[in-house]
Amino acid sequence: GRSGALRTRMEERLLAARFRYINQQLYTCSSQEAARLFRSDPDAFHIYHRGFARQVARWPENPVQRIVRYLRQRPASLVVADFGCGDCTLASSVRNKVHCFDLVALSPRVTVCDMAKVPLAAESVDVAIFCLALMGTNLQEILEEANRVLKQGGTLLLAEVASRFADLRAFLSALARLGFRCVSK
Ligand code: SAH
Repeated sequence: GRSGALRTRMEERLLAARFRYINQQLYTCSSQEAARLFRSDPDAFHIYHRGFARQVARWPENPVQRIVRYLRQRPASLVVADFGCGDCTLASSVRNKVHCFDLVALSPRVTVCDMAKVPLAAESVDVAIFCLALMGTNLQEILEEANRVLKQGGTLLLAEVASRFADLRAFLSALARLGFRCVSK
């Protein structure tokens, strides 16, 4: 009855709070520490993903769908790397070959690894994607890794919430120093 409903509501709140806590941890630690966090507490990953899915469901648009539309307008022969792929929504929505990387495997498609060090040859992909996944304080190392696996003239797609950027211009000029030219923002 009523106490059951109250209990459910309280449990939801606790899960939401744990999601925010883990999210904050991921944004304030290095990717190596994030890897350690989920390895030592696999539960944390599942709580994180439930919270993530709930949050995104409330947004007017899920950026992963924008990226799906972008890829569908381009040749299916383009090879894609999805850094921080989550549940592989992207890979399951396009015909392209998509290499899926995450810290924990929510799907058999996922290669478990730290996105700062993915098991791909240099210059082997056409499109590198970070959809709400540019986490970790070692951004430079992560973006250098994307640069390494991208072919010359390849495309980097980043989707992040605006509040993630204290100074967007500084971020774009840092990207330019890493070898990326801004085509569209
Ligand atoms: N791109 C997906 C999931 C975004 S959630 C989508 O848009 O639906 C962010 C994902 O990045 C999480 O699954 C998280 O585990 C992953 N992630 C965070 N840090 C990572 C790291 N260092 N290496 C690999 N994946 C990481």
